[in-house]
Amino acid sequence: MATAGKNVAPPVASAPQPQKRWSRLRALKRVVQLGAVGAVGYGAYDIYNKRHPAEQKPFDPTKRTIVLLGSGWGAISFLKSLNTDDYNVIVVSPRNYFLFTPLLPSCTVGTIELRSIMEPLRFITRHKSRNVKFYESECTDIDPESKTISIADVSDIKGAVSNTTIPYDYLVVAVGADNQTFGMAGVREYACFLKEVWDAQKIRTRLMDCVESAGFASQTPEEVERLLHMVVVGGGPTGVEYAAELHDFLKDDLEVWYPELADKLKITLVEALPNVLPMFSSQLIQYTESTFKQNKIEVLTKTMVKEVADKEIKVMDANKNMVSIPYGLLVWATGNCPRPLARKLMARLKEGGQNSPRGLLIDEYMRVKGAQDMYAIGDCAFTKYAPTAQVATQQGKYLSRVFDGLARIEEGQNKKIHPFEYTHQGSLAYIGSDRAVADLPFLNGNVSVGGVATYVFWRSVYISHMFSFRNRFLVIGDWMKSKVFGRDVSRE
Ligand SMILES: Cc1cc2nc3c(=O)[nH]c(=O)nc-3n(C[C@H](O)[C@H](O)[C@H](O)COP(=O)(O)OP(=O)(O)OC[C@H]3O[C@@H](n4cnc5c(N)ncnc54)[C@H](O)[C@@H]3O)c2cc1C
Repeated sequence: MATAGKNVAPPVASAPQPQKRWSRLRALKRVVQLGAVGAVGYGAYDIYNKRHPAEQKPFDPTKRTIVLLGSGWGAISFLKSLNTDDYNVIVVSPRNYFLFTPLLPSCTVGTIELRSIMEPLRFITRHKSRNVKFYESECTDIDPESKTISIADVSDIKGAVSNTTIPYDYLVVAVGADNQTFGMAGVREYACFLKEVWDAQKIRTRLMDCVESAGFASQTPEEVERLLHMVVVGGGPTGVEYAAELHDFLKDDLEVWYPELADKLKITLVEALPNVLPMFSSQLIQYTESTFKQNKIEVLTKTMVKEVADKEIKVMDANKNMVSIPYGLLVWATGNCPRPLARKLMARLKEGGQNSPRGLLIDEYMRVKGAQDMYAIGDCAFTKYAPTAQVATQQGKYLSRVFDGLARIEEGQNKKIHPFEYTHQGSLAYIGSDRAVADLPFLNGNVSVGGVATYVFWRSVYISHMFSFRNRFLVIGDWMKSKVFGRDVSRE
């Protein structure tokens, strides 16, 4: 006979009552609903505010004037954080927009449209408390003695005045860097860089031109092979991400629309070092290289480009043999070198201690060595940090605090300005087939992760780092559009 104890029901408290469970679910639903309403409300409020900027204070001759050179990561981060109640600001840049460079490789194959990652500068300057003047022009010279800069309108359409000089009280140099070519003839002529909007446009056009020319009537097999050989020089994040995007384009779209050519398209990545992505952990390097192998992207490490011609490059391979590699499209992503303006300034300040060929030397307060009232941030400065958007952004934000400190000191307050300290937030790279790699700081160590979940993380990080709600909306829309309809294969 069963014992009486066995038939006793378990204590009521240990099983949640259905009624309680429902009320908890209802409460959770309400929280989610309120959150969604709050987010939509905030989004609408933000959009309204962005489109209806408030009145701005005029230029104030009693305030000091900061001239800011550039409209990239460093400059915009500085401008966004700067309190313009304290200063007059003039921005000089040949680009009247900010470009979100990390998503530029996605634009070369049409996963994202270029305008989605561009933010007009006026959308930022018009929201500052004081009117910020913007001159779409290039700074051609800096005279630290007279504290003036020369600017030139380098756009196609010019007015009666296209060159002038402007004085500054403080100068912030944030002009970024040029593409490193190692002085090799043919690179600028035949290769495509991947730094600016027009580079991505050029790559997209040339890529489709190569594909269509390969499909031309009675095209020779050798030419088909050459035209469909896409060569990327440089195994850093830019080169790797471009090769990855190209692979996705091939798999998702070219195989559908060009079935007769798709299997002939070949991607080769050339890198002088023993591996790609040298800033990542060895585990992620291996993961990237094995993913590339699976995706049939050939990786030639320890291989140095020696000559660049219009249809082929000559390389010295790992065994020190000279090999010719015919190509249809050549993308050059081998890093940075100083821009002509920075070089000119460095030469002027040589006696003041500017003796590095790699960029402007600055101290831990971003002051340019050998100059008065001049600061440099981002890729134009040579520091112990990597030339990344992360560093440029933190330097820009920090410099705005320096200027805040200077303004308070001028008011007679006792303000201490601390030196710059960089906080590394991790490195991320997309490697194709919906996979990404991430090296993230964790406690006092590092976490290395790779795969599809990292790819979702990669996307969410980029979205959260975009400067405006508008950009986020456009990029998410582009991602959805290319998933649903495929990428556009028309040649512009
Ligand atoms: C394809 C690509 C992907 C990248 N991905 C990442 C990433 O994922 N994460 C990351 O941290 N970093 C990334 N980077 C690096 C990052 O973009 C740079 O480190 C960052 O742009 C540096 O900021 P900057 O302000 O110094 O220069 P930039 O952003 O290049 O801005 C320079 C500005 O100066 C202007 N300028 C140039 N010459 C003059 C002149 N003579 N007078 C006035 N203005 C001038 C330019 O028009 C531009 O507005 C990537 C870079 C590229 C190219």
